[in-house]
Amino acid sequence: MNKNIYYKSTRGGETGILASEAVLKGIASDGGLFVPNEIPKIDVELSKLASMDYKELAYYILSKFLSDFTEEELKYCIEKAYDNKFDTEEIAPISKVGNALFLELYHGPTLAFKDMALSILPYLMTTSAKKQNLDKEIVILTATSGDTGKAALEGFTGVPGTKIIVFFPEDGVSEIQKKQMITHEGDNVFVVGIEGNFDDAQSGVKKIFRDNEFLKLLEENNYIFSSANSINIGRLVPQIVYYFSAYLKIYIKGEIEEGEKVNVVVPTGNFGNILAAYYAKQMGLPINKLVCASNDNKVLYDFINTGVYDRQRKFVTTISPSMDILISSNLERLLYTISGEDSDKIKELMNSLDKDGSYEINETMREKLRDFYGGFASDNDTKKFIKYVYEKYNYLIDTHTSVAYSVNKKYREVFNDNTKSIIVSTASPYKFTYSVMNSLDNKYMDSNDFELVKEMSWLIDKKEPKAIKNIEKRRIVHKTICKADEMKLKVREFLEI
Ligand SMILES: *Cc1c(COP(=O)(O)O)cnc(C)c1O
Repeated sequence: MNKNIYYKSTRGGETGILASEAVLKGIASDGGLFVPNEIPKIDVELSKLASMDYKELAYYILSKFLSDFTEEELKYCIEKAYDNKFDTEEIAPISKVGNALFLELYHGPTLAFKDMALSILPYLMTTSAKKQNLDKEIVILTATSGDTGKAALEGFTGVPGTKIIVFFPEDGVSEIQKKQMITHEGDNVFVVGIEGNFDDAQSGVKKIFRDNEFLKLLEENNYIFSSANSINIGRLVPQIVYYFSAYLKIYIKGEIEEGEKVNVVVPTGNFGNILAAYYAKQMGLPINKLVCASNDNKVLYDFINTGVYDRQRKFVTTISPSMDILISSNLERLLYTISGEDSDKIKELMNSLDKDGSYEINETMREKLRDFYGGFASDNDTKKFIKYVYEKYNYLIDTHTSVAYSVNKKYREVFNDNTKSIIVSTASPYKFTYSVMNSLDNKYMDSNDFELVKEMSWLIDKKEPKAIKNIEKRRIVHKTICKADEMKLKVREFLEI
């Protein structure tokens, strides 16, 4: 029998919130993030879970966190999410390449790991709305560094009772990512390019969420905002599932003994994916180190190594754009845990981040960061390891995954740690064809992303995924571009309020 889990804000302003309320609200009214009042523990031996398929495992994990959902409700959401929009029944397969175990999270409809959670979030959200007797239309407002946008559009298009608005940095995403979004058809969708970077888009969205007058106006028009960003627990919780699935898969393959610890290596931006791994560890999954891999926007590397989080630095545009982030929102949840759930402390740190652009944590908190190792990879390293892995193992990885591979290699060398590592592959190389192909050989320099899709499919002898087939020929349906301070205006125009 599962315990009842309630949610509360990291900033102390809300407690006793049901999972369905937290999913609907996205963010707490005091600006904090919802966290469970306790992390449920696995209550059977791991080997007992090994015979479950992905959906059964998803039910096992989700039912522990979303305890006010009935079995029927959860199973409905899971069935709808993990179906044949994934190109493999395994949903999240593992590829063994040399000594590395790549957890491929890119077999969903948009070729990036965001599909793992965004394929289920719309169903969790509409189910929550029913449970809460909500009669308003849900407006999903999302800022994206490239992959969330398309995955959220895929998830919410045509879902009755919802509208979705996506803001993306006009010059901060790959050609293919951009094309995926601006050609996305649907009556309830609206896509807008921002003249600015991802942080500008994300800050803009957060500001709208805190604009009480605007929220009132929405309510009068029978709308309610929610967030599809990774701060929503409806995204965080489904991400825990694949860490269990990965562990059990390599256990079944005989790569590890039952209970043997593994490292997980996660290419990190908003800290959502790696936080799910941290929660998995707290539930009892045998994880040793959580290796947090950054690109040249290495705020997290600096934070883990010095205890100082400082976003006041130059924003760098890299070849792993989905990690070009200086404000990692989900880190607030980790801070909450390592501060001993001290919401006053969190308020103080977040105020300092808002006002001064930085904060520093104390020694006690730093002690508890030891679960993590922080490293980073430059664009050059990233390219180097795409080429290395391809030439040595005939396996093609994308730029984000290469950041993880590179950081892990360094970590193992420096610390002489031979623990098996699961490297989280967050995107298909097909999503970043220009950077990937030019890492192999700079003869592709004058080609574009679209031309290189064919080249790539010849190279790896696999058909191009249908998600991007003929993408360059699709009709552009979203042409709106605005400044960061015009976002609210664009929302009003779309909603006609
Ligand atoms: C979103 C994303 C990341 C970063 O994940 P976070 O949960 O934001 O840390 C890494 N790689 C890819 C391809 C992504 O789309």
